[in-house]
Order: sequence, then structure tokens, then C-alpha cells
Amino acid sequence: MIDFSIPAEVAALRDEIRAFVVEEIVPYETDPRLTQHGPNDDLRAELVERARNRGLLTFQADRRFGGRGPSHVDQAVLFEAAGWSTLGPVALNCAAPDEGNMFLLSKIANEAQAESFLVPVIDGHQRSVFAMTEPGGAGSDPGQLATQAVFDGTEYTVNGRKWLITGAPGAKTWIIMADVQSNSHGPAGPTLFLCDGGEPGIVIERVMDTMDRNYVEGHGVVRFDGLRLPPTAVLGEVGQAFRYAQLRLAPARLTHCMRWLGAAARAQSIAIEYARTRTAFGKPLGEHEGVGFMLADNEIALQQCRLAIWWACWQLDQGAKGRHESSMVKAMVAEELFRVADRCVQVLGGIGISDETPIGMIFRDIRAFRLYDGPTEVHKYAISRQVLRVPEPRS
Ligand SMILES: Cc1cc2nc3c(=O)[nH]c(=O)nc-3n(C[C@H](O)[C@H](O)[C@H](O)COP(=O)(O)OP(=O)(O)OC[C@H]3O[C@@H](n4cnc5c(N)ncnc54)[C@H](O)[C@@H]3O)c2cc1C
Repeated sequence: MIDFSIPAEVAALRDEIRAFVVEEIVPYETDPRLTQHGPNDDLRAELVERARNRGLLTFQADRRFGGRGPSHVDQAVLFEAAGWSTLGPVALNCAAPDEGNMFLLSKIANEAQAESFLVPVIDGHQRSVFAMTEPGGAGSDPGQLATQAVFDGTEYTVNGRKWLITGAPGAKTWIIMADVQSNSHGPAGPTLFLCDGGEPGIVIERVMDTMDRNYVEGHGVVRFDGLRLPPTAVLGEVGQAFRYAQLRLAPARLTHCMRWLGAAARAQSIAIEYARTRTAFGKPLGEHEGVGFMLADNEIALQQCRLAIWWACWQLDQGAKGRHESSMVKAMVAEELFRVADRCVQVLGGIGISDETPIGMIFRDIRAFRLYDGPTEVHKYAISRQVLRVPEPRS
């Protein structure tokens, strides 16, 4: 049976994280270094030092890397607390894409790779990117991967173009997905490469203007222009990129859900306060049924999302791959939290679409969340294929 009680040490850490985010991080939400392209590196560095000083930096890392090694269910509780401010995960070094990349590298990087490319990210001194999506190539369907890495017997040469690459400017740890023909190292297929962002063959063409603004240094358009990499740059085995991406996928989907659940809960708390204090037609807004019902719908949705996340995390903690479960949860949570954020905007009236409160920003960021780590329709596509394939009973 699932036990919903939160262990005392997890509750204590959650309270510590929450206090840190409220006391030290929320005030940064109006800092001009939180730009249209996300927090810049200068702001990030300052936030990270604050978390380091409180002993909370990268709390989610494995114990062997100096973290607290929380289970997936523990993470659900802790990441939600971190997400109370959209800058909380940035400060604590549990934001995307670094958090998912650290998870992946801790599973498949060899010792030398971990030393150069993982440890500095865990320490908060270096950022990372995961470069897969392409204009005209890999997207919802990664099988359309167009970037090529050609092996000439000595080195690989990578050519291709990617976009929506979060955190590209200034990141040092680059995980690049490219297609490889069979060679002496392994069979043909999509392959992950690990290299330094300063390599001359990596050209950042521009940073895109997007509606979200909480990923450090925004989302880049990147060209690999004859990028030369030695065979030691292969991450894991040649031809296995999709298998490794799957490894990262279920936990990374869920940590996105956890962080945005925290942000949506914050939006709800602001909406509740507004509905308590703002009056219209002789009484507080919240006493009008139309507003009270929006707040009630939000409370129901938030709790449903929380329980669904905990359930999928529990599956992972039991050793399940959780691909189908995390797909269902991600599709549901992204849609529900978007509706929660939308109702919060509505409760606040005109101020809801302004930057006078964080609600407008949270709304825009959660809108983006419906697209990454699988658009809702792609998850439904996968779920429908699964239910058609597997006979009853399915669980
Ligand atoms: C904020 C943000 C950050 C991102 N960061 C990164 C990053 O760091 N690295 C990276 O590699 N990528 C990143 N991405 C890209 C992201 O992974 C892709 O946007 C996502 O995989 C969808 O691919 P696409 O944008 O090419 O959409 P497309 O593949 O063009 O799909 C467009 C739409 O078609 C519909 N659709 C597609 N397939 C199906 C189907 N089977 N059934 C029904 N409908 C379908 C969906 O509605 C989908 O939204 C990011 C995206 C966003 C929004």
C-alpha cells in the first residue's frame, strides 16, 4: 500500500527549503537580471551562493556526489517547496535542464567524464544543456533526428542545427544527440556526445524570444559547424541515445511537474489573498460563488496533481521504469496546472495579466510546460497506443 505520511527528516528539509525560498529568493523576482531570456548567469551565480551558504545546494544529488540522495517520492515533496518561487529551483540547482542532465550523467558518464562535466554542475559552478530538438528534424518524433556525426577513423565531425536549446549561452557541459553510422565503436543509431560548450564547432546563432522566462539564459538556436570530437566524447555507448534519453525522461518529466506544482500553489495563494481582501458588489470577491468555485477548483486540481505525482514517483521508487505512468501524470498535470494558473489570472482581474504579481509570469511559463518533455498530445498518443496494445487488467 502507498503510505502518504512524509518522513520527519523530509518534512524538516521541505520546511528549510520553503523558508529559504520565501526569505531569500522571492525578493529577487523583481530583479532586472530576471530578463525576457530568463535569469542571467550573474543572477544565477548570486542565487546559487545563497543556497550554498544555507547548505541546500543540489540537495537532490546522490550521496556519492555530496547530495542528500532523496527518493523520488521525497523529491516530489522537496521540489514542490523549491518551486514556490520560479527562481527557487535555479538557486537550489534543481532546475531544468541541469537537474535532468545531472541525473543522466550520474547514471552513464564514466569517471573521467563525471569529473569534468558532472561534478562542476553539481557544485553549481557550471551549467549544462541537452541538445536534441531541431528545426525540421527531431521534435515530438526524435526518430527524425537530422544532426550527423561522421567518424573518420580518428574523430567524429558533427554537423547540424538545433533550436529551443535551453541555457545554451554560457553552458560548459553539452550533451548533444546526433546520428552515427555504424563504425568500430558500435552499431548505427542516435548517439549522445559530451563536450565543452567552448568548442569552436559550436555556434550559438541567437537566443529566441519566448513567452516563458524562467530558464537561465533562455533558449538558443545552435549550429554544429564541423564540430570535431574524439571517441572519448561518446556518452555511454554508440547508437544508444534513445535508451539513455528514456532513462532521463520519466524522472525529468516528474520533476518538471513537481516544480510547476509549487509555482501553481503559489499562484493560488496569491489569488486566495486577493479574493479575501478585494471587494466588489458589497462583499469580498471570494464570497461571490463564481470566484469561490474557481478557488475550489484550483484546490481540487492541485491536490489531484500532487497525489498523481506521488503515485508515479512511488512506482519509480519500487523499481518501475514509469514510462507510461509518468506520461499519464505529465499530460494531466501540465493541463491541470495551466487551468489553475488561468483561473488565478481571472480571480485577480486586470492585475492578473500584469507583472505586479508573479501570476502572469507563472501562467506564461506553465503554458510552455504543456509543450516540453512531450506535448500533451504526444503523451496521449503514447498512452492510447499502450492501452490498445495491453489487454485488461492493465495495472
Ligand atoms: C520552454 C522549452 C524548453 C525546451 N528546451 C529544450 C532543450 O533544452 N533541449 C531540446 O532538445 N529541446 C528543448 N525543447 C523542445 C521540446 O522538447 C520540443 O518543443 C518538443 O519535443 C516538441 O517538439 P516540437 O517543438 O518540434 O513540436 P512538433 O514536433 O513540431 O509538434 C507540434 C505539435 O504537433 C502535435 N503533435 C506532435 N506529434 C503528435 C502526435 N503523435 N499526435 C498528436 N499530436 C501530435 C502536438 O500538439 C505538438 O505540440 C524545449 C521546448 C520548450 C517549449
